[in-house]
Amino acid sequence: MTTSAIAANGLRKSYGDKTVLDGVDLAVPEGTIFALLGPNGAGKTTAVKILSTLISADDGVIRVGGHDLATDAQAVRAAIGVTGQFSAVDGLITGEENMLLMADLHHLPKHEGRRVAAELLERFDLTDAARKPASTYSGGMKRRLDIAMTLVGNPKIIFLDEPTTGLDPRSRHTMWHIIRELVTGGVTVFLTTQYLEEADELADRIAVLNDGKIAAEGTAEELKRLVPGGHIRLRFTDPAAYRSAAATLNGASRDDDALALLLPSGGGQRELRSVLDRLDATGIEADELTVHTPDLDDVFFALTGGTGLPHQPKENAR
Ligand code: ADP
Repeated sequence: MTTSAIAANGLRKSYGDKTVLDGVDLAVPEGTIFALLGPNGAGKTTAVKILSTLISADDGVIRVGGHDLATDAQAVRAAIGVTGQFSAVDGLITGEENMLLMADLHHLPKHEGRRVAAELLERFDLTDAARKPASTYSGGMKRRLDIAMTLVGNPKIIFLDEPTTGLDPRSRHTMWHIIRELVTGGVTVFLTTQYLEEADELADRIAVLNDGKIAAEGTAEELKRLVPGGHIRLRFTDPAAYRSAAATLNGASRDDDALALLLPSGGGQRELRSVLDRLDATGIEADELTVHTPDLDDVFFALTGGTGLPHQPKENAR
């Protein structure tokens, strides 16, 4: 049996009469990456704030790092590191000064603080920028400094609240690499994300938060199995052709803005031919045809009713 680094049962939180978390259960095994996935406003940050002792829950039993949050918040704080939207980076001082400040907060002796700061700045590729004010750093550099600062305290569990939101693709990949390395070093990572791709890339287990509840939980593969099949997507440039196709292919779901039709499909040849035959019979030609196998997007949309996230249709045929 594996030990849970984080375990929450019946987690509840409301603001006024708005219920944000409505009985959430979570279990994160030690040394793994766990992704809490949900659209904007789903309550991800609220969950992180509660689990990291920044705010209190209205109800629920929570253990983090083996400590009960209600009775031993201090021990929880000693075991965790938090980075995210409420970043600890001070822009007015340099990256190095930020690091040394953290070392002081953790009561490291001066020379030890210097050593740890230099080592972490090096590890996160910030040595050249170490003497510059953090306000001059790029988004990716700030996030790296934020994580480096968190690691000064040698936490066993790290909470990363939307670690790549707003980063360019290259910085995002760097951050993914850093997150994977953290776990290689034995740390447990709890991250929140709006990006299905990110959860798919990084997480050992994923929980989908929707309407205050965990709508599904499992590995990416397990979640993908929840949606029965993929679909065929037909896109048109001519609105008239689009309308005739929609009339011909009853059962297709319509995306009027994109002039695209989606038909449920297992991706088989016969099914595809039947769709094409039906179109041919009426002389309609699609400008683009893609076959889409189920992925986390499908799971997410099946679970959350298709609201919330900006859906970026995958154009690549698979
Ligand atoms: P996410 O991180 O998934 O985007 P949040 O946890 O930030 O979601 O917010 C969840 C919901 O709780 C939102 O509707 C938000 O407006 C509300 N909320 C968050 N913090 C507060 C607060 N301090 N007071 C009132 N409502 C809040």
